[in-house]
Amino acid sequence: MERFIGIDLGTTNSVVAFLEGQKPVVIPNTEGNRTTPSVVLYPGGDEVVVGELAKRQLVINPFSTISSIKRFIGRRPAEVAETAKQVQYHLVEDMENERLMIDLGWKKVSPEEVSAEILKKLRDYACSYLDTDITQAVITIPAYFNDSQRSATKAAAEMAGLEVIRIVNEPTAAALAYGQNKDKSEIVAVFDFGGGTFDISILELDNNIFEVRATNGDTYLGGDNIDNCILEFIREEIKKGIKKDIMEDVKAVQRVREASEKIKCELSTLKSTTISLPFIISDEEGPKHFTREFTRDEFNKLAMPLFERLIPPCRAVLTDAGMTPSSVDTVLLVGGSTRIPKVREIVTEFFGREPRKDINPDEVVAMGAAIQAGVATGYIREVLLLDVTPLSLGIEIADDVFSVLVPRNSNIPTAAVKKFTTVVDNQKNVFVHVLQGERKQASQNRSLAHFRLTGITTSPKDIPEIEVRFSIDANGILNVSATDLTSGARKEVKIESYHPVKTEEVEQEVKEAEGKLDEDRIYMDSVRKGEKAKNIMDGVKKFIAENELDIDPADITAMQEVIESLEEAFEVGDVASMEEWARALYGTAEKYQEKFFKYNVKPWK
Ligand code: ADP
Ligand code: MG
Repeated sequence: MERFIGIDLGTTNSVVAFLEGQKPVVIPNTEGNRTTPSVVLYPGGDEVVVGELAKRQLVINPFSTISSIKRFIGRRPAEVAETAKQVQYHLVEDMENERLMIDLGWKKVSPEEVSAEILKKLRDYACSYLDTDITQAVITIPAYFNDSQRSATKAAAEMAGLEVIRIVNEPTAAALAYGQNKDKSEIVAVFDFGGGTFDISILELDNNIFEVRATNGDTYLGGDNIDNCILEFIREEIKKGIKKDIMEDVKAVQRVREASEKIKCELSTLKSTTISLPFIISDEEGPKHFTREFTRDEFNKLAMPLFERLIPPCRAVLTDAGMTPSSVDTVLLVGGSTRIPKVREIVTEFFGREPRKDINPDEVVAMGAAIQAGVATGYIREVLLLDVTPLSLGIEIADDVFSVLVPRNSNIPTAAVKKFTTVVDNQKNVFVHVLQGERKQASQNRSLAHFRLTGITTSPKDIPEIEVRFSIDANGILNVSATDLTSGARKEVKIESYHPVKTEEVEQEVKEAEGKLDEDRIYMDSVRKGEKAKNIMDGVKKFIAENELDIDPADITAMQEVIESLEEAFEVGDVASMEEWARALYGTAEKYQEKFFKYNVKPWK
């Protein structure tokens, strides 16, 4: 039988599962653990160490041990300048290809290569566990991953010798694992608080049909931040006692970071624990130890500012889905950080109900991925998956206006077609500018790609029919094409790399757009007024050009003077003047009214 696996390729930990009959089963690694740290060590030569062993080397080999690579996969150097400061290894820019690379000192590796090492390892575990060669996998990614991040993840899998059956969003996978064989309909909130990120998604389950209604979160909020918070606390405490800063010693920092994580995890079950760091730092008198009791209450207080950041994305996702907390029937907790009691409390309070206790937050995503692999290969038939687009997608049209083709939160896969035309006579090409965002004014949105469609049939403006087609496949990859329906000229782009969409950015953008509805309305109003003025001007100009001998020369002079003023108004973009001069122009030419009709000149109202 052909085997396939499901992989949760996490920022911090990764998990692999397979399908036994219709049931997903997690495959343990060679150390017997069901999750494997997403850490890769390059000790030199061809050797590569992945997982627990690599994680332990973070202290001794901070520059050749790569963690949190998921933050960098498919990203451009400029996009991750801030994030790069948070890791100890060296990220460099490969100038030639505008790519991000990790400089190990003796060689450079790409984020895809690093991710491929993790995937290869997971594949190896599965191959030896199942005693067969495995070449197919479903891989999960965060819902907000953009096309470039998705493509890069796919590329990493291929490097690892895996054919990607499907890329699936993590919340969808979690809901799938929970909702398999549940034939009732319900609204599910997937609350995923992992090592590096927080994602919240609302899904609708209906008779084995899964639909992501909305998704939100914070890409810079995770267990790592909590560890850092404890680390800072310990650092300050050490400073108080020993008057030395551990930050001066890379290895001391790593040790404190590891201790911080351990303490945090202990406090998920214990009310109090001991921070114990023997020989953490030396001063003139020799090595010093640090020991201190640390209680859950202290911890909660310390991390509260981080916990508080969990709430706004929850509110936003419900607003987007058009729901209230009480609309949610089931809350699923995903990610290691949801084991923190305070986090559970916050979730329970927000949604007004206890989250499910019967799912394993570390494993549910990989299990869902295995199920999805079964669905995609036909082993499981009943389940259908639907995901959504986080922001609206469309193109720029004349006057800096954004024309939406795929509204935000549309289900994917999806396709949309709209017809456009030219703005000047004999226009031979059009510039297709693909954008993403929520503002009416094109330049206020994010530019994804642009291309020029050439070879448009020569004709007056407004005549050519240019069909623009957007299609987003099941993996969330966007294709945009433009076709001149007369000449058949066609051009297409697959958007390989674009500015990332962080979930907090999505929220911010939507909020901003909402706050700017008035501004947008005023803008659109001025666009319409400008268009009208331009139509009058173009019409009158054409009229003069074609009827010069039939018009009173004095009128021509008068009209041309007004046209000059109108053109000036266009140049400076003064809408009130445009309106005024267009009205005046119509006035000077009014007596030729009947003839105007042919030139599409209508009075200003
Ligand atoms: P990711 O999806 O980012 O790979 P995970 O879901 O594996 O991450 O979560 C990893 C995070 O969960 C780490 O920050 C880890 O410290 C934290 N974590 C794991 N177990 C616990 C626990 N018992 N209590 C608190 N945090 C935990
Ligand atoms: Mg995860």
